[in-house]
Amino acid sequence: MNVEIISVGTELLLGDILNTNAQYLSKELANLGFNVYKQVTVGDNIERLLNCFREAFEVSDVDMVITTGGLGPTADDITKEAATKYFGQELILDENSWQEIREKCAKFSGGADKIPENNIRQAMFPKEADVIRNDNGTAPGALFKKGSKKILVLPGPPREMKLMFIEQVLPMLQGNSNSILISKYIRFFGIGESALEIKLKNILEEQTNPTVALYAKDLEVMVRVTAAANSEADCEKLLCDKIKEISNICGEYIYLIGDDSISSSQTEMDKVVAELLVKNNTTISVAESCTGGLVTANLINYPGISKVLFEGCVTYSNEAKIKRLGVKKEILEEYGAVSSQTAEEMAIGVAKSFNSEIGVSTTGIAGPDGGTSEKPVGLVYFGIYYKGKTFSIKKIFSGDRRKVRERAAMEALNQVRILLLKNEKQ
Ligand code: AMP
Ligand code: MG
Repeated sequence: MNVEIISVGTELLLGDILNTNAQYLSKELANLGFNVYKQVTVGDNIERLLNCFREAFEVSDVDMVITTGGLGPTADDITKEAATKYFGQELILDENSWQEIREKCAKFSGGADKIPENNIRQAMFPKEADVIRNDNGTAPGALFKKGSKKILVLPGPPREMKLMFIEQVLPMLQGNSNSILISKYIRFFGIGESALEIKLKNILEEQTNPTVALYAKDLEVMVRVTAAANSEADCEKLLCDKIKEISNICGEYIYLIGDDSISSSQTEMDKVVAELLVKNNTTISVAESCTGGLVTANLINYPGISKVLFEGCVTYSNEAKIKRLGVKKEILEEYGAVSSQTAEEMAIGVAKSFNSEIGVSTTGIAGPDGGTSEKPVGLVYFGIYYKGKTFSIKKIFSGDRRKVRERAAMEALNQVRILLLKNEKQ
């Protein structure tokens, strides 16, 4: 199925609001395996919207147009009028919709007599259209049809549009594709988009069912696997086999596998690590230099972390590292603040001060200045203390100061994750 999304609303063209509907729909339609040919934004103007319909069906040759916006009761809400006109149909009163709208309005405006007259416009549809109930607002949506052409009109307010889409449109579109579609998401850390693409080259090239798509996020990469089958069980089997195949190739970079609920965030690493800490009841303290509190802040995103997180110190100067964490002056003088020795001492120091099981530290050169050929910008050492043992890890990150710090913070969390998983298995 080839689809075009038309976002209707002058406020979008003025830049007053962000077009989140188009992004949401594009993602959902991609999940369904539909081809989104185009996204178009147009103001509240019937002639221009009619031109968009002409262009979509007669030039781009799409099967379905999906619109959002312009279903309100006022004169500038013209989407249904345009769709009706384009298909040469006629708007008539849909009694069921009118009854529902009156009941909703009566609830909000305190009596049936107070319903604004123009609300009746929201209950007008051509007899050829299927009306779609709106459980979060007054304006119903509708599927307009003529021959093989379809125009699906959805309301503008995102919470109305999304609920209508999930509850009523999705089952309808899934019915269209004649099979059940289920997606799973795999989140990777520590590997870039192109490196992962090379590793998954064969899978990506040979994909049929399930389909496999790779997405780059700000600090990590995600793979979506979508299976189509006649039953949920068959989908799950297909997904399970494909995910196994992917895990065999690059499992060491996978930190989370899940359903749609893990697909939109920039990262899930904070949640995954915090959950592991709480589940294992493992206490932790953090000493941060170059990350300046980012590691701790990420852990604190998780409600309930207070059970296991004792403290996070930002020890930026050498003096702070000495006074606050007990890093030896000689170590700083001999190896420098950015060194594995200092990182380890920081981790020990912060763990010991409150007797936490894990102490984790960061010390590095975030740039743009301060790098040398021996210690370049982006170099970060991580110290990890765990139950009496200490070790350090060295990484070099690319990017500007902000990126280096964010990447380092995520890496620190990732190292805690690896440590916890290793010790869970023993
Ligand atoms: P409308 O259905 O055109 O009356 O739109 C009602 C409201 O929905 C607008 O004022 C916006 O706040 C919101 N809205 C409409 N279109 C979009 C869109 N494409 N993305 C996000 N919000 C939207
Ligand atoms: Mg509008």
